[in-house]
Amino acid sequence: MAKKITERWIVKAGSNMIVSGGPMLIRAWMQQVSVLRKKYGIEVIWVTSGAIATAVEFMSDRSGFNRGKRTLAEKQALSAIGQPLVLDLYTMGLQAQGLGAAQVLLTYEDLADSKRRENFQNTIEQLLEWRVTPILNENDAVATQEIRFGDNDSLSARVAKSLSAKRLVILTDVEGLFESDPRTNPTARLVPELKRVSPALIKSMGKSGAGTQRGTGGMLSKLMAAKIASDNGVRTHLVKGDEANILTELAQGHLHGTVIYGRRK
Ligand code: GLU
Repeated sequence: MAKKITERWIVKAGSNMIVSGGPMLIRAWMQQVSVLRKKYGIEVIWVTSGAIATAVEFMSDRSGFNRGKRTLAEKQALSAIGQPLVLDLYTMGLQAQGLGAAQVLLTYEDLADSKRRENFQNTIEQLLEWRVTPILNENDAVATQEIRFGDNDSLSARVAKSLSAKRLVILTDVEGLFESDPRTNPTARLVPELKRVSPALIKSMGKSGAGTQRGTGGMLSKLMAAKIASDNGVRTHLVKGDEANILTELAQGHLHGTVIYGRRK
């Protein structure tokens, strides 16, 4: 008998993780998605980045394709190339567990408009009822500046709010939030927990919080996402995505990375 659902989590994987971890890492994550559902009664809605970064890798050996700065149209076209490649990896990973994957692409307007949000919520509920894992990304190919989330950290926090998730897990390439930038200060200490994301903390991030070459979201966008989540009662975990069994470890209550508590509403 399948375990009764007790919690809903949103898990977001960043571009660096997708490109450096590749199919093996995605397969390991999907195996954990299966364990979360079967053993812990946790259902997962997955938010993936990495479409553009995957397409850049895919296109890079073609003549006429350069790795320089890109126009919006180029990024949108790249997202359309990379999205099916990324989705294939999730589909294969879930199929290996006897589970299904579904693709849902969103723009900011889809969650801002009440009718469209309701349609989105109904679709997700139906997929989960059929035990199919929704794999979300921003609909980069059509989203213009005005209707963008901007980065998937923000998207995942808004999704967590609209689907009344209990936790938001952000899988990234650093261990969590540090007291200072670990890239420039090797003795920087990890912050294991935060009661809330204060405006002062956001301000203190400055330039060190900016995104990387592959993904748009650096630590600043993760904290902003954690703030939205926290203000809506959702607990956020910022963790290193390629730590072994990271999701099942969190389900068992082990401490990893930084946890930002949800505030009571
Ligand atoms: N949606 C973008 C992609 O799939 C990534 C956005 C982000 O870096 O958060 O390439």
